[in-house]
Amino acid sequence: MKEKYILEIQNLNKSFANLKVLKNIDLSVKDKDIVSIIGSSGSGKSTLLRCIAKLENIDSGKIILEDTEIQNDKSNRILSKKVGMVFQQFNLFPHYTVLENISKPLITVNKASKTKSRQRALDLLEKVKLSDKKNNYPHQLSGGQKQRVAIARALAMDPEIMLFDEPTSALDPELCGEVFQTIKDLAKDGMTMIIVTHEMNFAKEISDRVVFMDNGIIVEEGPSEKIFNTPKNERTKRFLKRTI
Ligand code: ADP
Ligand code: MG
Repeated sequence: MKEKYILEIQNLNKSFANLKVLKNIDLSVKDKDIVSIIGSSGSGKSTLLRCIAKLENIDSGKIILEDTEIQNDKSNRILSKKVGMVFQQFNLFPHYTVLENISKPLITVNKASKTKSRQRALDLLEKVKLSDKKNNYPHQLSGGQKQRVAIARALAMDPEIMLFDEPTSALDPELCGEVFQTIKDLAKDGMTMIIVTHEMNFAKEISDRVVFMDNGIIVEEGPSEKIFNTPKNERTKRFLKRTI
């Protein structure tokens, strides 16, 4: 039986002006796969996620999500509905309550009814264990709680794949654990995920596969234990020595 890929990236190239940021990227992600992307700052990790989410146009190559090729669309750079994206800086709507942060996009983007959207938001808040905060505003939450709302909001769209771009980098260390736990719960539910992180222990624990990027290139990828315990490439070895 042919393995089912949720995402296939073929020979992807992306530049900003004269700067080549992604060079001949090939990456395939199977249903329920958990892939971590590691690498130094500036290596192109965020740009890769943003291309998958349709927040950036690509120069050449293909991104195929659930058998449909993502098309560049200069006038309309909106987040692909098939993709849930979670950012380092949460990006919540400050003037909406926690509940509205989740329900409003369902009403405006998905044209769902108010009642249904509210119920869906309540269910998701229960899932990320924030039911008691439903009427609070983002500024009344801790960083970890904000990020869990952002995760719930992304899940509301029923994405095929969740992308996390350094979800704990803006958090105090003692707040990272609750966000890691929420991501682990999603993994248990069988969510397909790509996670960019500098938290090597988390990457090691949660990932099926780890991708090491350097300077716009995928230098090495493989099963989590192989990359962390017996990396082959010198650049991967050097990076891991610095970070672990
Ligand atoms: P990472 O997430 O691995 O730190 P990024 O994907 O954010 O790397 O950035 C890769 C390179 O692309 C960096 O050199 C960065 O300065 C550059 N870059 C990212 N976004 C833009 C942009 N919108 N315009 C110009 N250069 C950008
Ligand atoms: Mg980044």
